[in-house]
Amino acid sequence: MSRQLIDSFGRVHRDLRISVTDRCNFRCTYCMPAEGLDWVPRQELLTFEEIERAARLMVERYGVSSIRLTGGEPTVRAHLPVLVDMLAQLPVDLSMTTNATRLPTMAEDLKRAGLGRINISLDSLCKERFTELTLRDELSKVLDGVDAALAAGFDPVKINMVVMAGVNEEEIVDFARFGRDRGVTVRFIEFMPLDASEQWTEGHVVTQQQIVERINEVFPLKPVERTSAPATRFVYEDGQGEVGVVASVTQQFCDSCDRVRLTADGQFRNCLFAVDEFDLRSLLRSEASDDEVGEFLEKAVAGKWAGHGIGTVEFIRPARSMSQIGG
Ligand code: SAM
Ligand code: SF4
Repeated sequence: MSRQLIDSFGRVHRDLRISVTDRCNFRCTYCMPAEGLDWVPRQELLTFEEIERAARLMVERYGVSSIRLTGGEPTVRAHLPVLVDMLAQLPVDLSMTTNATRLPTMAEDLKRAGLGRINISLDSLCKERFTELTLRDELSKVLDGVDAALAAGFDPVKINMVVMAGVNEEEIVDFARFGRDRGVTVRFIEFMPLDASEQWTEGHVVTQQQIVERINEVFPLKPVERTSAPATRFVYEDGQGEVGVVASVTQQFCDSCDRVRLTADGQFRNCLFAVDEFDLRSLLRSEASDDEVGEFLEKAVAGKWAGHGIGTVEFIRPARSMSQIGG
Protein backbone atom coordinates (compact mmCIF):
# COMPACT_ATOMS: atom_id res chain seq x y z
CA MET A 1 0.00 0.00 0.00
CA SER A 2 1.62 3.23 -1.10
CA ARG A 3 -1.27 5.56 -1.80
CA GLN A 4 -3.99 7.20 0.21
CA LEU A 5 -7.49 8.47 -0.43
CA ILE A 6 -6.68 12.03 0.50
CA ASP A 7 -8.66 15.22 -0.15
CA SER A 8 -7.49 18.75 -0.83
CA PHE A 9 -7.69 19.56 2.89
CA GLY A 10 -5.24 16.78 3.74
CA ARG A 11 -7.83 14.45 5.25
CA VAL A 12 -6.93 10.79 4.71
CA HIS A 13 -9.92 8.45 4.30
CA ARG A 14 -9.78 5.04 5.95
CA ASP A 15 -13.39 4.33 6.87
CA LEU A 16 -15.74 2.84 4.26
CA ARG A 17 -19.51 2.51 4.70
CA ILE A 18 -21.13 0.08 2.32
CA SER A 19 -24.88 0.09 1.89
CA VAL A 20 -25.79 -3.43 0.79
CA THR A 21 -29.45 -2.70 0.08
CA ASP A 22 -31.80 0.28 0.05
CA ARG A 23 -34.68 -1.95 1.20
CA CYS A 24 -35.93 -2.02 4.73
CA ASN A 25 -38.52 -3.89 6.79
CA PHE A 26 -39.09 -0.71 8.87
CA ARG A 27 -40.36 2.73 7.87
CA CYS A 28 -38.69 4.95 10.47
CA THR A 29 -40.42 8.26 9.97
CA TYR A 30 -37.18 10.27 10.15
CA CYS A 31 -35.50 8.11 7.55
CA MET A 32 -38.00 6.93 4.95
CA PRO A 33 -41.35 8.16 3.56
CA ALA A 34 -44.31 6.31 5.17
CA GLU A 35 -45.40 4.96 1.80
CA GLY A 36 -41.92 3.54 1.30
CA LEU A 37 -39.62 4.14 -1.65
CA ASP A 38 -39.19 2.58 -5.07
CA TRP A 39 -36.58 -0.07 -4.42
CA VAL A 40 -33.54 -0.23 -6.67
CA PRO A 41 -34.05 -3.06 -9.23
CA ARG A 42 -31.87 -6.06 -8.48
CA GLN A 43 -29.65 -5.71 -11.55
CA GLU A 44 -28.75 -2.19 -10.44
CA LEU A 45 -27.50 -3.41 -7.05
CA LEU A 46 -23.80 -4.08 -6.82
CA THR A 47 -23.13 -7.82 -6.69
CA PHE A 48 -21.10 -9.25 -3.81
CA GLU A 49 -18.17 -9.67 -6.22
CA GLU A 50 -18.35 -6.00 -7.23
CA ILE A 51 -18.56 -4.88 -3.60
CA GLU A 52 -15.62 -7.09 -2.68
CA ARG A 53 -13.51 -5.78 -5.56
CA ALA A 54 -14.12 -2.16 -4.64
CA ALA A 55 -13.50 -2.85 -0.95
CA ARG A 56 -10.33 -4.85 -1.62
CA LEU A 57 -8.91 -2.07 -3.75
CA MET A 58 -9.61 0.53 -1.09
CA VAL A 59 -8.06 -1.66 1.62
CA GLU A 60 -5.05 -3.01 -0.23
CA ARG A 61 -4.14 0.04 -2.26
CA TYR A 62 -5.34 2.89 -0.05
CA GLY A 63 -5.15 1.58 3.49
CA VAL A 64 -8.85 1.64 4.31
CA SER A 65 -8.97 -0.07 7.70
CA SER A 66 -12.62 -0.03 8.68
CA ILE A 67 -15.70 -1.23 6.81
CA ARG A 68 -19.26 -0.89 8.09
CA LEU A 69 -22.20 -2.58 6.38
CA THR A 70 -25.39 -0.60 6.40
CA GLY A 71 -28.49 0.09 4.33
CA GLY A 72 -31.53 0.27 4.16
CA GLU A 73 -31.56 -2.75 6.41
CA PRO A 74 -28.47 -4.85 5.66
CA THR A 75 -29.97 -8.07 7.01
CA VAL A 76 -32.70 -8.07 4.33
CA ARG A 77 -30.04 -8.56 1.64
CA ALA A 78 -30.13 -12.26 0.73
CA HIS A 79 -27.08 -14.32 1.77
CA LEU A 80 -25.51 -11.48 3.76
CA PRO A 81 -23.19 -13.85 5.68
CA VAL A 82 -21.58 -14.79 2.34
CA LEU A 83 -20.60 -11.15 1.77
CA VAL A 84 -19.43 -10.86 5.38
CA ASP A 85 -17.22 -13.88 4.85
CA MET A 86 -15.73 -12.33 1.69
CA LEU A 87 -15.00 -9.00 3.40
CA ALA A 88 -13.72 -10.65 6.57
CA GLN A 89 -10.75 -11.93 4.54
CA LEU A 90 -9.55 -8.32 4.35
CA PRO A 91 -7.50 -6.83 7.23
CA VAL A 92 -10.26 -4.49 8.45
CA ASP A 93 -12.45 -3.76 11.43
CA LEU A 94 -15.71 -5.13 10.00
CA SER A 95 -18.98 -3.96 11.53
CA MET A 96 -22.67 -3.53 10.73
CA THR A 97 -25.50 -1.17 11.63
CA THR A 98 -28.90 -2.87 11.82
CA ASN A 99 -32.39 -2.56 13.21
CA ALA A 100 -31.76 -5.99 14.81
CA THR A 101 -35.09 -7.63 13.93
CA ARG A 102 -33.36 -10.44 12.07
CA LEU A 103 -30.52 -10.99 14.52
CA PRO A 104 -32.31 -13.74 16.45
CA THR A 105 -31.91 -15.96 13.38
CA MET A 106 -28.73 -14.44 11.90
CA ALA A 107 -26.42 -13.26 14.69
CA GLU A 108 -24.53 -16.54 15.02
CA ASP A 109 -24.07 -16.94 11.25
CA LEU A 110 -22.77 -13.38 11.00
CA LYS A 111 -20.37 -13.93 13.87
CA ARG A 112 -19.13 -17.16 12.32
CA ALA A 113 -18.67 -15.43 8.96
CA GLY A 114 -16.34 -12.92 10.60
CA LEU A 115 -18.43 -9.87 11.45
CA GLY A 116 -16.62 -8.05 14.26
CA ARG A 117 -19.02 -5.54 15.74
CA ILE A 118 -22.71 -4.62 15.67
CA ASN A 119 -24.51 -1.30 16.18
CA ILE A 120 -28.25 -1.58 16.74
CA SER A 121 -30.60 1.32 16.04
CA LEU A 122 -33.30 1.78 18.64
CA ASP A 123 -35.05 5.07 19.33
CA SER A 124 -37.69 4.17 21.91
CA LEU A 125 -38.11 1.62 24.65
CA CYS A 126 -41.81 2.39 24.84
CA LYS A 127 -43.91 0.06 22.67
CA GLU A 128 -46.39 2.69 21.48
CA ARG A 129 -43.75 5.28 20.62
CA PHE A 130 -41.57 2.66 18.96
CA THR A 131 -44.52 1.67 16.74
CA GLU A 132 -45.24 5.30 15.88
CA LEU A 133 -41.60 5.92 14.97
CA THR A 134 -40.95 2.81 12.88
CA LEU A 135 -44.51 2.14 11.68
CA ARG A 136 -43.90 -1.43 12.87
CA ASP A 137 -45.04 -3.03 16.13
CA GLU A 138 -41.74 -4.85 16.57
CA LEU A 139 -40.02 -3.50 19.70
CA SER A 140 -39.89 -6.99 21.21
CA LYS A 141 -38.12 -8.35 18.10
CA VAL A 142 -35.48 -5.61 18.38
CA LEU A 143 -34.94 -6.36 22.06
CA ASP A 144 -34.62 -10.07 21.20
CA GLY A 145 -32.10 -8.98 18.55
CA VAL A 146 -30.04 -7.16 21.19
CA ASP A 147 -30.00 -10.33 23.30
CA ALA A 148 -29.09 -12.44 20.26
CA ALA A 149 -26.14 -10.17 19.42
CA LEU A 150 -24.86 -10.44 22.99
CA ALA A 151 -25.42 -14.21 23.10
CA ALA A 152 -23.49 -14.64 19.82
CA GLY A 153 -20.53 -12.94 21.50
CA PHE A 154 -20.47 -9.56 19.77
CA ASP A 155 -18.50 -7.18 21.95
CA PRO A 156 -19.19 -4.34 22.20
CA VAL A 157 -22.83 -4.18 21.14
CA LYS A 158 -23.75 -0.54 20.68
CA ILE A 159 -27.22 0.97 20.61
CA ASN A 160 -27.76 4.08 18.46
CA MET A 161 -30.59 6.33 19.60
CA VAL A 162 -31.50 9.31 17.40
CA VAL A 163 -32.73 11.93 19.87
CA MET A 164 -35.58 14.12 18.59
CA ALA A 165 -36.98 17.07 20.54
CA GLY A 166 -40.57 16.55 21.62
CA VAL A 167 -40.51 12.97 20.32
CA ASN A 168 -38.28 10.68 22.40
CA GLU A 169 -36.08 13.08 24.39
CA GLU A 170 -37.75 12.11 27.67
CA GLU A 171 -36.26 8.62 27.23
CA ILE A 172 -32.60 9.72 27.32
CA VAL A 173 -32.09 8.60 30.92
CA ASP A 174 -34.10 5.38 30.31
CA PHE A 175 -31.68 4.54 27.51
CA ALA A 176 -28.68 5.27 29.73
CA ARG A 177 -30.15 2.93 32.35
CA PHE A 178 -30.89 0.28 29.69
CA GLY A 179 -27.27 0.42 28.54
CA ARG A 180 -25.92 0.10 32.07
CA ASP A 181 -28.26 -2.81 32.90
CA ARG A 182 -27.68 -4.77 29.70
CA GLY A 183 -23.96 -4.11 29.32
CA VAL A 184 -24.36 -2.31 25.99
CA THR A 185 -22.95 1.09 25.01
CA VAL A 186 -25.58 3.65 24.05
CA ARG A 187 -24.68 6.32 21.50
CA PHE A 188 -27.02 9.28 21.36
CA ILE A 189 -27.19 10.84 17.90
CA GLU A 190 -28.27 14.37 17.10
CA PHE A 191 -31.14 14.37 14.62
CA MET A 192 -29.82 15.31 11.16
CA PRO A 193 -31.60 16.93 8.19
CA LEU A 194 -31.76 13.73 6.16
CA ASP A 195 -35.34 12.83 7.03
CA ALA A 196 -37.37 11.77 4.03
CA SER A 197 -40.34 13.90 5.03
CA GLU A 198 -38.14 17.04 5.17
CA GLN A 199 -39.67 18.04 8.50
CA TRP A 200 -36.30 18.66 10.15
CA THR A 201 -35.65 22.04 11.74
CA GLU A 202 -32.94 23.04 14.18
CA GLY A 203 -35.67 23.06 16.82
CA HIS A 204 -35.87 19.27 16.55
CA VAL A 205 -32.26 18.83 17.61
CA VAL A 206 -31.49 17.91 21.22
CA THR A 207 -27.89 18.99 21.59
CA GLN A 208 -24.97 17.02 22.97
CA GLN A 209 -24.84 19.40 25.91
CA GLN A 210 -28.50 18.82 26.77
CA ILE A 211 -28.14 15.05 26.40
CA VAL A 212 -25.10 14.89 28.67
CA GLU A 213 -26.67 17.21 31.28
CA ARG A 214 -29.74 14.99 31.55
CA ILE A 215 -27.77 11.78 32.01
CA ASN A 216 -25.29 13.43 34.34
CA GLU A 217 -28.08 14.46 36.75
CA VAL A 218 -28.90 10.80 37.37
CA PHE A 219 -25.70 8.94 36.48
CA PRO A 220 -22.66 11.23 36.83
CA LEU A 221 -20.37 11.19 33.80
CA LYS A 222 -16.84 12.26 33.01
CA PRO A 223 -15.50 12.98 29.51
CA VAL A 224 -12.96 10.78 27.76
CA GLU A 225 -10.33 12.47 25.62
CA ARG A 226 -11.55 12.94 22.03
CA THR A 227 -10.23 10.88 19.14
CA SER A 228 -11.06 11.19 15.42
CA ALA A 229 -14.14 8.96 15.98
CA PRO A 230 -17.44 10.82 15.51
CA ALA A 231 -18.75 10.00 18.97
CA THR A 232 -17.66 12.04 21.98
CA ARG A 233 -17.31 9.50 24.78
CA PHE A 234 -18.17 9.81 28.45
CA VAL A 235 -17.64 7.18 31.15
CA TYR A 236 -19.86 6.74 34.18
CA GLU A 237 -18.10 7.89 37.33
CA ASP A 238 -19.15 4.67 39.08
CA GLY A 239 -17.30 2.65 36.42
CA GLN A 240 -20.43 1.01 35.00
CA GLY A 241 -19.71 1.51 31.32
CA GLU A 242 -19.88 4.50 28.99
CA VAL A 243 -22.03 6.46 26.56
CA GLY A 244 -21.23 8.29 23.35
CA VAL A 245 -22.79 11.31 21.71
CA VAL A 246 -22.60 11.91 17.97
CA ALA A 247 -23.04 15.67 17.69
CA SER A 248 -23.18 15.90 13.91
CA VAL A 249 -25.16 19.13 14.08
CA THR A 250 -23.83 21.15 17.00
CA GLN A 251 -20.19 20.04 17.04
CA GLN A 252 -19.43 19.13 13.49
CA PHE A 253 -16.50 16.76 13.12
CA CYS A 254 -15.97 17.40 9.40
CA ASP A 255 -12.36 18.53 10.04
CA SER A 256 -11.38 15.02 11.06
CA CYS A 257 -13.78 13.10 8.82
CA ASP A 258 -12.17 10.01 7.27
CA ARG A 259 -15.30 8.38 5.84
CA VAL A 260 -16.39 7.51 2.32
CA ARG A 261 -19.54 5.70 1.23
CA LEU A 262 -20.75 3.28 -1.37
CA THR A 263 -24.50 3.09 -2.01
CA ALA A 264 -26.33 -0.14 -2.78
CA ASP A 265 -26.59 0.90 -6.44
CA GLY A 266 -22.89 1.53 -6.68
CA GLN A 267 -22.60 5.27 -6.29
CA PHE A 268 -19.48 6.44 -4.48
CA ARG A 269 -20.06 9.36 -2.07
CA ASN A 270 -17.33 11.38 -0.43
CA CYS A 271 -19.66 12.78 2.27
CA LEU A 272 -22.92 11.74 3.93
CA PHE A 273 -24.36 15.09 2.86
CA ALA A 274 -22.76 15.17 -0.60
CA VAL A 275 -25.00 16.44 -3.39
CA ASP A 276 -22.85 14.79 -6.08
CA GLU A 277 -22.23 11.07 -6.47
CA PHE A 278 -19.66 9.20 -8.55
CA ASP A 279 -20.88 6.33 -10.68
CA LEU A 280 -18.59 3.51 -9.62
CA ARG A 281 -21.00 0.80 -10.80
CA SER A 282 -20.66 1.77 -14.46
CA LEU A 283 -16.90 1.77 -14.13
CA LEU A 284 -16.83 -1.64 -12.42
CA ARG A 285 -19.05 -3.02 -15.18
CA SER A 286 -16.95 -1.52 -17.97
CA GLU A 287 -13.99 -3.86 -17.49
CA ALA A 288 -11.92 -0.98 -16.14
CA SER A 289 -8.58 -1.99 -14.67
CA ASP A 290 -7.80 -1.63 -10.96
CA ASP A 291 -5.59 1.35 -11.86
CA GLU A 292 -8.53 3.06 -13.56
CA VAL A 293 -10.86 2.35 -10.65
CA GLY A 294 -8.18 3.61 -8.27
CA GLU A 295 -7.76 6.83 -10.21
CA PHE A 296 -11.53 7.34 -10.15
CA LEU A 297 -11.63 6.90 -6.36
CA GLU A 298 -8.68 9.22 -5.83
CA LYS A 299 -10.37 11.94 -7.87
CA ALA A 300 -13.71 11.48 -6.13
CA VAL A 301 -12.10 11.90 -2.70
CA ALA A 302 -9.82 14.75 -3.78
CA GLY A 303 -12.86 16.89 -4.57
CA LYS A 304 -14.45 16.53 -1.12
CA TRP A 305 -15.73 19.73 0.40
CA ALA A 306 -14.61 21.16 3.73
CA GLY A 307 -17.86 20.32 5.53
CA HIS A 308 -21.61 19.97 5.31
CA GLY A 309 -22.48 23.40 6.60
CA ILE A 310 -25.71 22.48 8.44
CA GLY A 311 -27.07 25.66 9.98
CA THR A 312 -25.44 27.90 7.36
CA VAL A 313 -26.98 29.44 4.25
CA GLU A 314 -24.73 27.24 2.10
CA PHE A 315 -26.32 24.01 3.35
CA ILE A 316 -28.08 22.00 0.64
CA ARG A 317 -30.08 18.89 1.50
CA PRO A 318 -28.94 15.83 -0.41
CA ALA A 319 -31.60 14.49 -2.79
CA ARG A 320 -31.54 11.02 -1.23
CA SER A 321 -32.76 10.12 2.25
CA MET A 322 -30.69 8.31 4.85
CA SER A 323 -32.08 4.88 3.96
CA GLN A 324 -30.80 5.30 0.40
CA ILE A 325 -27.41 6.74 1.34
CA GLY A 326 -26.69 4.41 4.26
CA GLY A 327 -26.31 5.88 7.73
N1 SAM B 1 -31.40 -0.07 8.92
C1 SAM B 1 -30.21 0.04 9.65
C2 SAM B 1 -30.47 0.71 10.97
O1 SAM B 1 -31.52 1.33 11.16
O2 SAM B 1 -29.58 0.62 11.82
C3 SAM B 1 -29.07 0.73 8.93
C4 SAM B 1 -29.39 1.94 8.09
S1 SAM B 1 -29.95 3.36 8.96
C5 SAM B 1 -30.15 4.52 7.66
C6 SAM B 1 -28.45 3.86 9.78
C7 SAM B 1 -28.58 4.83 10.90
O3 SAM B 1 -29.02 6.07 10.40
C8 SAM B 1 -29.57 4.42 11.97
O4 SAM B 1 -28.90 4.39 13.20
C9 SAM B 1 -30.60 5.53 11.95
O5 SAM B 1 -31.11 5.78 13.21
C10 SAM B 1 -29.78 6.68 11.42
N2 SAM B 1 -30.59 7.77 10.86
C11 SAM B 1 -31.54 7.69 9.90
N3 SAM B 1 -32.07 8.91 9.64
C12 SAM B 1 -31.44 9.79 10.47
C13 SAM B 1 -31.52 11.20 10.67
N4 SAM B 1 -32.36 11.97 9.98
N5 SAM B 1 -30.71 11.76 11.62
C14 SAM B 1 -29.84 10.98 12.33
N6 SAM B 1 -29.69 9.66 12.16
C15 SAM B 1 -30.50 9.07 11.24
FE1 SF4 C 1 -34.89 1.20 7.95
FE2 SF4 C 1 -32.76 1.86 9.39
FE3 SF4 C 1 -34.09 3.73 8.00
FE4 SF4 C 1 -35.26 2.66 10.08
S1 SF4 C 1 -33.37 3.87 10.13
S2 SF4 C 1 -36.21 2.97 8.07
S3 SF4 C 1 -34.50 0.60 10.09
S4 SF4 C 1 -32.98 2.05 7.14
